[in-house]
Amino acid sequence: MIYLDNNATTQVAPEVYAAMQPYFAQLYGNPSSAHTFGRNVRRAIEQAREQTAALLGARQAHEIIFTSCGTESDNWAIRGALATQPTKKRHIVTTKVEHEAVRNLCAQLAREGYEVTWLEVDEEGALDLESLRLALRSDTALVSVMLANNETGVLFPIEEIGEIVRAKSDAVFHIDGVQAVGKIPLDLKRTEVDLFAVSGHKLHAPKGIGALYVHDRLKIKPLLIGGGQEGGRRSGTENVPYMVALGRACDLAKDYDNLETIRHLRDRLEDAVLARIPNARLNGITDRAKRLPNTSNISFAYLEGESILAHLDAASICVSTGSACNSAAHESSPVLRAMNVPFTTAQGSIRFSLSRYNTLEEIEYTLMVLPDIIRHLAEMSPYEEELRALMNKKGRG
Ligand code: PLP
Repeated sequence: MIYLDNNATTQVAPEVYAAMQPYFAQLYGNPSSAHTFGRNVRRAIEQAREQTAALLGARQAHEIIFTSCGTESDNWAIRGALATQPTKKRHIVTTKVEHEAVRNLCAQLAREGYEVTWLEVDEEGALDLESLRLALRSDTALVSVMLANNETGVLFPIEEIGEIVRAKSDAVFHIDGVQAVGKIPLDLKRTEVDLFAVSGHKLHAPKGIGALYVHDRLKIKPLLIGGGQEGGRRSGTENVPYMVALGRACDLAKDYDNLETIRHLRDRLEDAVLARIPNARLNGITDRAKRLPNTSNISFAYLEGESILAHLDAASICVSTGSACNSAAHESSPVLRAMNVPFTTAQGSIRFSLSRYNTLEEIEYTLMVLPDIIRHLAEMSPYEEELRALMNKKGRG
């Protein structure tokens, strides 16, 4: 099995699995207990907090609060920050390409009476910073943007965005950092970021653990009220093994040599697909420095992404159409629509997302089988003529 769907979820690293094991059946104490058994467990949580803070470049470990997932972190960040704002501040700025954890929540907040400005992106998925500048107002309560797009890997310049936000408003600045953590170096203390969401299962920790970075200066209202765990900010008896797992995963992610290997494999895959397959087209910024090192979103014009996925699956290669096609509504992904990718191109989009566990052999195997799959599907496509024209054009070029 060749797993090229690491933006969906990742394999738990063996080191992470080993680190969490003792906290199930041996070191199972409650970290709030006063006895030594409990205190030892508390120490493990604090170490995990420090490891997570170190990867994010937080000033202090207590700026990290553990949650259950990225969705909880995003939801809590947004609702928790809005709850501390004066009632007359009811304007939110976000983008059209956010993950559902932010996009659907902001749509819900609009139904609850907030005014939401949805910022546009250009054809490469880059954010229009001038429209951000124009959108900011004295009643803007929150700006929420992602750092790395889950479908295309496009990076938003959060340092620059933060400076624009600070220069023009005192809005809370939230970043959905879920896809970026472990894939690019981070140093939050050098940014204007107030809140930053993390999800463990995107960086080789298990599903069911996340974190929220909350800048020291920021007050945020808890969502979960109870026993006062996590400094009173997120009650509920701590999920110790999973917190330990996230800490260990963050520690492992500091090995940036891995990122260079991943980048090299992704570049090899992307270059060869675009060169060898005439109807292939990249979705996202061509300047690879402005994209995650592990992601390639490629459209195969006039074909169905689902059919390509099924054929790759039959060849034991796992990819994703991203959240690419809502087939029931017969609409392409909101991200590709925001980028103005034509429907006949968007519906044939495939997301390849790599991890440190992929090998050159796997990439070469994928490159061996993919062109035949595309050729086979093109022969059956109702757009046969358009496809033939594309092939001829590319052949001449
Ligand atoms: N934000 C982004 C950008 C994501 O890609 C995801 C998951 O795919 C989430 C948030 C939600 O994270 P989780 O699956 O941990 O709830």
